[in-house]
Amino acid sequence: MEKLALRYEGKAKKVYTTDQSDYLWVAYKDDATALNGKKKGTIHDKGEINNQLSALFFAEIEKAGILTHYVRLLSDRDMLVRSLEMIPLEVVVRNVVTGSLGKRLAVPEGFVLSQPVVELYYKDDELGDPMVNETHIAAMGWASAEDTKEIQASGLKINKILQNILAKAGIELIDFKLEFGIADGKVYLGDEISPDTCRYWDIETREKLDKDRFRQDLGRLEEAYQEVFRRVKEVLTPAKNESSQNV
Ligand code: ADP
Ligand code: UDP
Repeated sequence: MEKLALRYEGKAKKVYTTDQSDYLWVAYKDDATALNGKKKGTIHDKGEINNQLSALFFAEIEKAGILTHYVRLLSDRDMLVRSLEMIPLEVVVRNVVTGSLGKRLAVPEGFVLSQPVVELYYKDDELGDPMVNETHIAAMGWASAEDTKEIQASGLKINKILQNILAKAGIELIDFKLEFGIADGKVYLGDEISPDTCRYWDIETREKLDKDRFRQDLGRLEEAYQEVFRRVKEVLTPAKNESSQNV
């Protein structure tokens, strides 16, 4: 697999074309941004962690029957993915109130929702990713009504898959953001699933183990990302002695 032209450089990743037109090379960066790009910094080793953690989550989501763009890891920092025509939406699923929802509805941080909430945002940095509903999406032609239903249903299924893995790792999934796209007429999960795009709290201490540490200047950024990666790897990678028993 050969990396060709840089097709897009975003805030967290570089996307390259490859010698196979249906596949893209994604290079994860250490750069971090928040407050709509106003706050900038770097988190040491973030690219490597987000790449490998996303790969672990994508593989579990595929196993559950949801198509994802993930093909394989190319290095600790690089991933091969199926090229998608991205749907310009951010699908946010929430289990516990924090961040923008707390502000919008004046609900205290940590309020546990009685059922998951799914929100749709139009992905546009200049507009600050405004919230939209199904009728905006259909009227603007961003996605078909059927695909919009499907991505919301997939969001809820992925919520259960991630909650299950993370609970075993002693982590509560507070909320997260997904992006989807189309290939061969089918909907695929794209982008990444990492501490940049999810909120994780330690189940016992309630410590934040995600990008909120950067957004809120809480310190120990790299340690938090490493901690999530270490715990999830432990849950999803069979211990050496277990796997050797199967040989
Ligand atoms: P942003 O655009 O939000 O700054 P990134 O730095 O994460 O984001 O850049 C990655 C870009 O690649 C995003 O615009 C995302 O929508 C897009 N993308 C993610 N997965 C795929 C894919 N499989 N095919 C095409 N584009 C993708
Ligand atoms: N999120 C994201 N990218 C965005 C906006 C939100 O990955 O552009 C994630 C964020 O990390 C959190 C969830 O989506 O896990 C909900 O974020 P919220 O709307 O509360 O955003 P905030 O404005 O607080 O970042």
